[in-house]
Amino acid sequence: MKIIKAELTISAVEERQYPVDNLPEIALVGRSNVGKSSLINTLINRKSLARTSSQPGKTQTMNFYQINEMFYFVDLPGYGYAKVSKKERQRWGQMIEHYLTTRSNLRYVFLIIDFRHPPTQDDIAMYEWLKYYKIPCVVIATKKDKVKSSQCSKNKKILKEKLQLLDRDKLFLFSSQDKTGKEGVWEFIEKVLE
Ligand code: GDP
Repeated sequence: MKIIKAELTISAVEERQYPVDNLPEIALVGRSNVGKSSLINTLINRKSLARTSSQPGKTQTMNFYQINEMFYFVDLPGYGYAKVSKKERQRWGQMIEHYLTTRSNLRYVFLIIDFRHPPTQDDIAMYEWLKYYKIPCVVIATKKDKVKSSQCSKNKKILKEKLQLLDRDKLFLFSSQDKTGKEGVWEFIEKVLE
């Protein structure tokens, strides 16, 4: 997809702020610092439209990026940051759960996982939760450039085992550093939006 226009429409903290133009949405979830913003920036060829390395603990928002007046990437606040208070975590949980279970514009969820390490308990719980609610989702394992090629198949195997991915489940390996996987993810997005 050629990117003609990409802009942050709103950083929302509650439902009444969600866009009302009824465009399809692709949401990204993952641990804080996993590389969600970098992935969005890489996909849309921008250096810093999506905020990278946003300081954990700051107001956590759902960022709606409108792409080509055609769809939204919705960057959901990252989970698993230890220093966030219990109250904040609960608020996060409610906000995300509400969005993911009620939003009719939501077409797909991209679960972003760090390819360097086995999935965390939070990653596994998130994936199981999405499956339980039958929310269409696909795993994108990022920071692939940080994994030696000799280590790749082992990491892939662990990832698949831990998440109990089936053979028919897609798994994208991605790098915002060297742009590995960019074309494959775009092909997938185009199919999702058809
Ligand atoms: P977010 O909190 O999930 O939005 O994560 P960011 O996109 O802010 O990325 C967190 C850190 O990981 C930053 O320092 C990025 O430069 C780095 N990072 C993100 N993606 C990659 C990648 O594919 N490869 C490498 N080497 N670093 C990455």
